Amino acid sequence: MTFKQLRLEGVTRRFGGHDALVDLDLTIERGEFIALLGPSGCGKSTALNCLAGLLPLTAGRIWQDDTRLDTLLPEKRGFGMVFQNYALFPHLTVAKNVAFGLQMRRLPSAEIRRRTDEAIALVHLEEQARKLPGQLSGGQQQRVAIARAVVLEPSLVLMDEPLSNLDAKLRLEMRTEIRRLHQALGLTTVYVTHDQEEALSMADRLVVLRNGRVQQVGTPEQLHTQPANRHVADFMGFRNLLPMTVTARTGDEVRVEGGGLALTGTAVGAVRDGDAVVAGVRPESLRLAEDGFPATVEVVEYQGREVAVEVVTDAGQRLHLRTADRPAPGDQVRLGVDPAALLVFPQGDA
Ligand code: ADP
Ligand code: MG
Repeated sequence: MTFKQLRLEGVTRRFGGHDALVDLDLTIERGEFIALLGPSGCGKSTALNCLAGLLPLTAGRIWQDDTRLDTLLPEKRGFGMVFQNYALFPHLTVAKNVAFGLQMRRLPSAEIRRRTDEAIALVHLEEQARKLPGQLSGGQQQRVAIARAVVLEPSLVLMDEPLSNLDAKLRLEMRTEIRRLHQALGLTTVYVTHDQEEALSMADRLVVLRNGRVQQVGTPEQLHTQPANRHVADFMGFRNLLPMTVTARTGDEVRVEGGGLALTGTAVGAVRDGDAVVAGVRPESLRLAEDGFPATVEVVEYQGREVAVEVVTDAGQRLHLRTADRPAPGDQVRLGVDPAALLVFPQGDA
């Protein structure tokens, strides 16, 4: 089963009086890799389960081209699912786990064998095909779960934090693996994660959620360079978020003051003269600059070619920067930031 577009319109799910997901609008094009990103409890799994049909919607609709999907049972939607905890049958071999869905469809046994072998080869588990899940590592078990989902040639693959039980090295390998499969099989994938690096490295587009509400939808580059608000900025690595006040605005250029600093930045959205705002800058955008403001180095952390440095300004404001220079704790430094790299957000809700 294939489609051109999946459309979520105002998808909403409440639990009692609690809004787990509010008014999610999203159009997914065939072949896209979409990541749902946000902190724990923001509504990612709720969105995925609504899409899968495991949770009824409180309001809204889901369309696959001109077919309404949200009224269909999960098994009628033709989606594949991969969960954090693998959910394999422990008493069945790898091959039988993968073949299970094909057997339920009563396909000819020759076809079942061919497709099962192909799926197992795709995830590089040929050597493990006769083993039980309990005899495999976590990464191998997750590969079985992926093979089991893709063997059915689903129109959409849904993955809910599939890598969060794996160690760091394996997580990196599996990222590449999942992205490779997505491409090789021409899948459409919706992938849930709380790990912004994972989402940025894998997805064509990201949907950032907070408290059940969409904060921003965009490509990795859009989110990285133009976060829509301070919450997205926080999530996208704008580690320095400073409460400040606008003292002047000319076009998008704003002058801000606070915590003993006076800086020039770029307005994101509605900020006016006199407003309390949040000014955000990434550690890698703060640089040592002779004409900058003074600060004292407190902590230096080795991170390969660069160091992560924590400094404190004379007024007591703590800042993080990354630099290839090697300052030492106690050093007096001067710091600057380009106006384009200092984003000034309305304070917004807490
Ligand atoms: P995430 O996957 O982003 O961590 P969830 O979608 O699981 O978040 O949950 C979103 C919110 O909905 C949370 O506040 C969670 O406690 C609540 N929630 C999720 N499932 C249920 C449920 N079955 N009953 C009651 N509340 C739930
Ligand atoms: Mg979840």
